[in-house]
This record gives sequence, C-alpha cells and structure tokens, in this order.
Amino acid sequence: MPDRADDSAGPIYVGRFAPSPTGLLHFGSLVAAVGSYADALHQDGTWQVRIDDIDETRAVPGAAEAILHQLEGFGFSWHGEPAYQTQRKSIYQEIIGKLVSDGLAFYCDCSRKDVLAAGRKGPQGPIYPGTCRKMPPQEERRLTVRLKTDQASIKFSDRFVGQVCQNLAFDVGDYVIRRSDGFAAYQLAVVVDDHLDRITHVVRGADLLHSTPRQIHLQTLLGYGRPAYGHLPIVLDDQGRKLSKQDKARPVSANAPVPSLLAAWEFLNQPAPDSPIGTTDEFWTFAATNWNTTSLPDPEDNLLDNQTEQD
Ligand SMILES: [Zn+2]
Repeated sequence: MPDRADDSAGPIYVGRFAPSPTGLLHFGSLVAAVGSYADALHQDGTWQVRIDDIDETRAVPGAAEAILHQLEGFGFSWHGEPAYQTQRKSIYQEIIGKLVSDGLAFYCDCSRKDVLAAGRKGPQGPIYPGTCRKMPPQEERRLTVRLKTDQASIKFSDRFVGQVCQNLAFDVGDYVIRRSDGFAAYQLAVVVDDHLDRITHVVRGADLLHSTPRQIHLQTLLGYGRPAYGHLPIVLDDQGRKLSKQDKARPVSANAPVPSLLAAWEFLNQPAPDSPIGTTDEFWTFAATNWNTTSLPDPEDNLLDNQTEQD
C-alpha cells in the first residue's frame, strides 16, 4: 500500500459511512451505519460521513440534510464536515480522461440492448462483448467509458466473509466508469473518494461484496492503497429483496432511537446488554466495548445475485 505506508503519522483506522441522498435512512441503512461506526469505535478509530450524491438523477432535494439529522438523532458522531461527491466531479472526470489516454479505458456507444444481445450472461449481469474495445467510437463528452479488464483473478480477504476471488474479465467484463449521461459511475467515484478521504477500513453491506474486486482493480491502476474491507449481512424484505429507499422502505425514526439501534445490533447478532440501555450515549459506550466481528451472521446467506451496477 504505497500511499498510506508512507504516512506513519496518519491514523490507523479511518472508517466511513456513505449514504446516497435518495431518501431517509431505513432499517437496512441503519444496520450498515451501526456496524461501521461500532467497528470504528471499537478500534479507537475516526469515522467520517460522505454523501454519495454522484447520481444526480436519483438525488432527492433535502435528503442529505435529513439523513445527517437522522444520524445525529441516533447519536452518531463523525469527524469533520461530510464530503459530497458532487463537489468532486471535476476530479473524477480528470481521472477518467487519464485512464482513457493511458489506454486503460475506452469510449463505448453500445446501448444496453446491444450489450444484452451480444453479451454473454454473467453472474453480475451481461458481460460486455468487447465491441468498442476493438473499434472505439470518436471521443464524445456524452459517451459511456468502460475500463478494460483482463483475465487475472482479483483476490482479497474480507474481514467478515473470508477469501473472495473474482476473475473480472470472465465474471464482470469491461465495466462502466463513466455513464452515458456523463456522470462518473459509482465504482470510479467510490475508489477516488476512499483514497481522497484516506479511508483505511470500509464496513458496508454485502450487496457491494461483488463490486469490491472492480474497486480493487481500479485502486491498482491508479496506484492507490487498498482499505481493509468488511461486508455485513443486508436486511431483506418479505420477498427476499434488499430494502431500498426507492421502494419507500419504512424509514427509521430518530425520535425513539434506542430501540432501533438495539434492533440493528441484534440483527448483527451482537451480544445483548446486561442492563437496560436508556440513551444513545449509553448504547454507543456499550457498543464500543462489546462489538464482536466473530459473531456477525454470514452475509453469504443472504447475498443477492441480481443487483444492478448502480444499486
Ligand atoms: Zn461499446
């Protein structure tokens, strides 16, 4: 890890929570926030909040402020001011441009339908058939940019899941780092953000487990360090789908925060408190001491196969 190894004065643990401002926090997002914050507290780390608002087509006005207000109500305390992806758009575009000029990425004018028709079916969706890699279209501001993948296997050890291995070319294919509407894709933005924010530990929902090799691949190409990853089980609805703000999943209320915190704690199979917990401060003091990653439920039990790239 070339970047952080040099920085011996830097903190040992910097964690983060990165909600999208598409609606209020629901129980699923609260579980991810609780796991991430408890892990940071337990390791005497710092914890940051970042608003993942790069997809401006989905951002709901006022949602970012509402989420921060909810987090305060649940007693989360973050380091510094929250970062916003929309304030980094020019940085993302510059990096995308450099990846193209270095021959690591290419413009693509295939439609979703083209890819579906010509692509092989992969576990994460259709595999890009390589059409524009061989014959790229003229550069244009509003064209998809895809990163080239190769047959090398990407391996990493997830703190909670164990060994994960993915062959990007076979399992994912050349993937989108800039969308056809010109916005940086999630995979690119998250990698740049974690680097800029000097994140050392990523704790998030297991719906992103199979995106992690794409992010590691980008980190390698950009010469960034790799944070430690830990993926938590995700909360599913009655139909076995991930709770989504778009589905108007029931938001959690910060008016009576302790029962929701305890429910999230219990979902993560954490040790029950011996004595009643009355305040959020009491909860977080208890959580900081008692957080135990070895009792987390196995996230592989509830992984979804058909998530889309932007979810
Ligand atoms: Zn194409």
